[in-house]
Amino acid sequence: MAEDYYKILGVDKNATQDEIRAKFRELAKKYHPDLNQGNQEAEEKFKQIAEAYEVLSDPQKRQQYDATGSAEFNGGASNFNWQDFTHFDDINDIFSKIFGGFGGSSGGDFFGGGYTNQPDLDIYIRVNITLEDAYYGTSKSVKYKRDAMCDACNGTGAVDGKLMTCPTCHGTGQERITRGQGFFQMVTVTTCRTCNGRGKIPVKPCPVCKGTGTVPKMENISINIPKGADTNIKLRVAKKGNSYGGVTGDLYAVIYVQNNSEIRRSGDNLYVKHHIDFPTAALGGEVEVSLFKEKFKLNIPAGTQPDDVLRIKGAGMPRINSHGSGDLLVIIKLDVPKHLTAKEKELIEELKGEPTKKSWFHI
Ligand SMILES: [Zn+2]
Ligand SMILES: [Zn+2]
Repeated sequence: MAEDYYKILGVDKNATQDEIRAKFRELAKKYHPDLNQGNQEAEEKFKQIAEAYEVLSDPQKRQQYDATGSAEFNGGASNFNWQDFTHFDDINDIFSKIFGGFGGSSGGDFFGGGYTNQPDLDIYIRVNITLEDAYYGTSKSVKYKRDAMCDACNGTGAVDGKLMTCPTCHGTGQERITRGQGFFQMVTVTTCRTCNGRGKIPVKPCPVCKGTGTVPKMENISINIPKGADTNIKLRVAKKGNSYGGVTGDLYAVIYVQNNSEIRRSGDNLYVKHHIDFPTAALGGEVEVSLFKEKFKLNIPAGTQPDDVLRIKGAGMPRINSHGSGDLLVIIKLDVPKHLTAKEKELIEELKGEPTKKSWFHI
């Protein structure tokens, strides 16, 4: 059963459009949510007034209402939706006179005060790289979707950038839903569904973004990964996050360095294994140690033991935040030949018979 719109606005059934408009302005001023913060009754009243005015100010709707006593043309009066309310200009007009600038006519004002319930606008994307990528530095392209600022309305969501305080939440961005009665009331606070937590709604929604202020956008951007990058470092790309209310967050590429089965990393130091033969271990010599595309000369001292660790200074991972590099630590592995020629066997047997054999085989 529809409310009596004439009664709500306190006008006669034969009232002229001017009379209806004047009465609406008077009541809207009295019950406007901004002047009645937290007053549920005033809010309800304001909604009723807006609803009544929506119908009675439109000659076609008014005619239908007069004929049928119902406003069931647009999903029913009980489904009154602020999106359908077309008279914000009237209200803004009233308030711009009272407060001087209410309604966003001055533009920009709405971004200065900050939004309530502003979501986290930054986007985090994990980027996998190899240890070799970290050693030389690299660039990786990432593909992702974000809510980009709508260019048509500069992210305001409104034609001409005009916004008004959300009538549902009075600008708090939160909606309180009360269930139950008496002592057993359960109050749930959720993000306001009318304004999506923004606290303001467009006077006239932008047709490009349908009032949201954002448009979905696929991004494909290249991330420069510096030498020495390590797991969990975050690389920021400014203004490539989500937009909300004209503010745009950043993109963070979170680096994950995959394990390498041959090379172990410890901070800026790298560990590799290198196999040498018995004569080199015993007599010493120079070997070449490979690391990715690099080759380093390493001097093996005479008498080097299996699992000895030799250091090549400055050949490790480049330091990400300063100059230079860590060290390359070479773990020596000793290869014992499995197949010997007759000559080799003879020589080793001979060596075994030497009086100095203790120093060779029983250290
Ligand atoms: Zn709201
Ligand atoms: Zn827009």
